[in-house]
Parts: sequence; C-alpha cells; structure tokens
Amino acid sequence: MEEPVTAVACPRCGRELDGFRVAVRRNAWGRRPGAPPHTRPENWWRCAGCGWLGCQNRGDGPIRPMRRLTGAESDCFFCGEEESNVASEPWDQDGERRDWIVCLVCGTSNQRRLG
Ligand SMILES: [Zn+2]
Ligand SMILES: [Zn+2]
Repeated sequence: MEEPVTAVACPRCGRELDGFRVAVRRNAWGRRPGAPPHTRPENWWRCAGCGWLGCQNRGDGPIRPMRRLTGAESDCFFCGEEESNVASEPWDQDGERRDWIVCLVCGTSNQRRLG
C-alpha cells in the first residue's frame, strides 16, 4: 500500500488535503471468517479546513469530488450507520442519470439511478 508522496491542495480552499482509506467492514460473500479487514481500492482525500471530500482511483488519476449526503439517503442501508454515505457527481449513462454511493463506515458502494 504505497502512499502518495506529493501533497495535494484542496480545490476549494487550497489547504493541503489529508489522505485516508475506507475500510471494508461488511462481511462479503466468500470471505473467510476471521479474514483480516481490507480497504477499498481508491485513495480518499478530505480537507480539514472546509470539509471538501474527494476520491481517486489508485494511481495518478484525477481526484473526483464527493459530496456528503443529508437526510435519509445519508444513512447506510447496509450497516445502519447514520450520515455515513457520500455520493459522486452524477453522470448520464444509457439515458439514465446515475451516481455512485459509498458508505465511509462499512465501505459498501453501489450505483443508483436518480429521478
Ligand atoms: Zn478545503
Ligand atoms: Zn455502511
């Protein structure tokens, strides 16, 4: 698990972002009981100054902004944690508007259809 060596500045306020990993805590099918926890494949970034949140595929890809959800949709359907879900920017695919939800507590992600 290599850590990035270059500092990344917050696109909103310019402060240096903190990198973190999202752990996968939910038992996935096929996992051995007692298997060590693992982490999601992305690099995650957050700003201690303004709260900006971003997600980056492993490697040198762009950091995509993620937004914190509010209300009922911020509660994780899988682990029951409240205000743990974040969502990507929506995109259009096959005539549908979609986004991608990740629970920062249990690491579960899924796509959803919007509207
Ligand atoms: Zn910031
Ligand atoms: Zn969860």
